[in-house]
Amino acid sequence: MVSVADVTPRTPWEEPPAMGDAIEVAEGVLWMRLPLPMKLDHVNVYAFDEGDSWTVVDTGMSSNKTRRIWTELMAGPLGGKPVGRVVVTHHHPDHIGNAGWFQSDHGAELVTTRTAWLFARMLTLDVQEEWPQETLAYYRSAGMDPEVYAVRRAERPFNFSDTVYPMPLGFTRVQQGDVFRMGGRDWDVHMGNGHAPEHATFWSRDDNLVLTGDQVLSSISPNIGVYATEPEADPLAEWLEACERLAALARPEHLALGGHKLPFTRLPLRMRQLIDNHHGALERLMEFLDTPKSAAECFPTLFKRSIGPAEYGLALVEAVAHVNHLYQTGQVSRERRADEAWVYQRL
Ligand SMILES: [Zn+2]
Repeated sequence: MVSVADVTPRTPWEEPPAMGDAIEVAEGVLWMRLPLPMKLDHVNVYAFDEGDSWTVVDTGMSSNKTRRIWTELMAGPLGGKPVGRVVVTHHHPDHIGNAGWFQSDHGAELVTTRTAWLFARMLTLDVQEEWPQETLAYYRSAGMDPEVYAVRRAERPFNFSDTVYPMPLGFTRVQQGDVFRMGGRDWDVHMGNGHAPEHATFWSRDDNLVLTGDQVLSSISPNIGVYATEPEADPLAEWLEACERLAALARPEHLALGGHKLPFTRLPLRMRQLIDNHHGALERLMEFLDTPKSAAECFPTLFKRSIGPAEYGLALVEAVAHVNHLYQTGQVSRERRADEAWVYQRL
């Protein structure tokens, strides 16, 4: 019999590096952190020693504060050597936020996936002073709480350009099946999906390191969300497909370096836990949808805890991902309620 403690992923480090400091997690590989102004209050970034320069993986959300910390890191733990290359795992602002700054101010090369680059550059240029009608319609379709909806509508909409530094033209593409040289190691490139489209993960051929980005995390589950850009999308199917495919590569001794929380071993076990959690959530939803309910009404069943205002947005897009999956796979029907919300019922 194994105890609960024995089946949870293990972390070699109990404490993360302080802001402005680094921990060497393997030879020539530094783990650092940058702050985020959200409930999830940090993002992990990594630097790989290239001899006369560094390759940095992920860059933090754009702000004067994070760029000040980067400047301290470059003068301190990075020893004054230049950042010659920036690798970005996926297009979210906490990962790609300062990539454009490294390109324009430090002459670094940007390496990422084509979808990540296109999405980030498109969204950065798409500045909206008023809420787009499509976004408001999407919130109503999801059954957003009318009070939350009213508060949001009264505020300036979130813009990518608020949290992502302007991205100059040009990048270098990595894609599925590439072998990528970084930090004295060869890495197999495998694409994740579902948390973000075409999310790069890197698997070292020369030691036990894996860069999982946000595709797989140690103690929180990666957010899987539907957005107004593609309201009928089924990102949960994409995330499950990617994780089943990547799980075949995972070994217990791998040291997984993720985008948030602590690095960890026992990667196969963690991936199985995350996959099983989603299947469990889908089963609970099928029970719950014996009568028609909106995505927002599924929160208690889906999350099994109360959702505060700071998490409401992420919870809503994740709830839509789950009902969309049931709908797109033919397990539930849906119809419009008088308040414009889609309500779902099991078939
Ligand atoms: Zn992300």
